[in-house]
Amino acid sequence: MAETLACKDIIYAFSKDHKPVKQVKPGTTISIDTYDCFQNQITSSETGISSIDWDQINPATGPIYVETAEPGDLLKVKVQSIKFSETGVMTVGPDLGVLGPHLEKFEAKIIPIRNNKAIFNEKIELPLNPMIGVIGVAPAGEPVSCGTPGPHGGNMDTKLITEGAEIYFPVFTEGALFGLGDMHAAMGDGEVGVSGIEVSGTAVVTLDVIKGTSLNYPLLVNDEGIAFLVSAETLDEAVRVSIEEMMAFLLPKTELTMNELTMLFSAAGETQISQVVDPLVTARFFIPAHLLESLGIKWFD
Ligand code: CA
Ligand code: ZN
Repeated sequence: MAETLACKDIIYAFSKDHKPVKQVKPGTTISIDTYDCFQNQITSSETGISSIDWDQINPATGPIYVETAEPGDLLKVKVQSIKFSETGVMTVGPDLGVLGPHLEKFEAKIIPIRNNKAIFNEKIELPLNPMIGVIGVAPAGEPVSCGTPGPHGGNMDTKLITEGAEIYFPVFTEGALFGLGDMHAAMGDGEVGVSGIEVSGTAVVTLDVIKGTSLNYPLLVNDEGIAFLVSAETLDEAVRVSIEEMMAFLLPKTELTMNELTMLFSAAGETQISQVVDPLVTARFFIPAHLLESLGIKWFD
């Protein structure tokens, strides 16, 4: 593979004003090194909350300028592989996550990863589901911190963003200015404690441009189906918008009435929660591949 990007090239926000650290042609496969979401600052369970520089959190490696990408296009990102460090880290504490108000002290835990398992302790080993937490492009307006998700992607903490997945991002600025970071060796839907098993590592992705087609939110495609990833102030809103976006996307591609498609959404579509702990929460509406096949729907290629 020709193209690589080292994790010294990092951003803490997605911004159209950033100078790209790399320029690639559409169709390029690139290997991107990433820090973990703590920028590798937590090296033992002794690391205290006050010794962490909280300004150096959620770095994304990038941004990468993809030639020909312009506003009104889509950036197609195929996740080819995810490789990561032999240890992961988790943190919990009083101000963190859903249970934060019930927790008395900050704690960091180093979690060894061996034989495709995360070793929580002698008795508890967890299966891995490697995924990318922060991934996206520069937004239209003001810079958006890498800790916050949105229509440009960012900190979506969606466990479907894994090997084999394709994500279509709306392009808001010339070159798209793509970046990624915050990989997890494992994470459950919700990410209720605010961290997954956080790891540094390397993601290999293929970046492509789809001209003249746009979307309002990132669309994820995998072998099982497709999902819009929508972040909002509340889960109610994220759920509603993800379903509305799917309707707006699929209805023009079928002969069905909106009533009929609503029935199919209700019978076979899945409302799923990605995360409930970031500055905006993220939900997704998933339509299974078998239904798309019955409807004869292809998305962009
Ligand atoms: Ca995250
Ligand atoms: Zn993370």
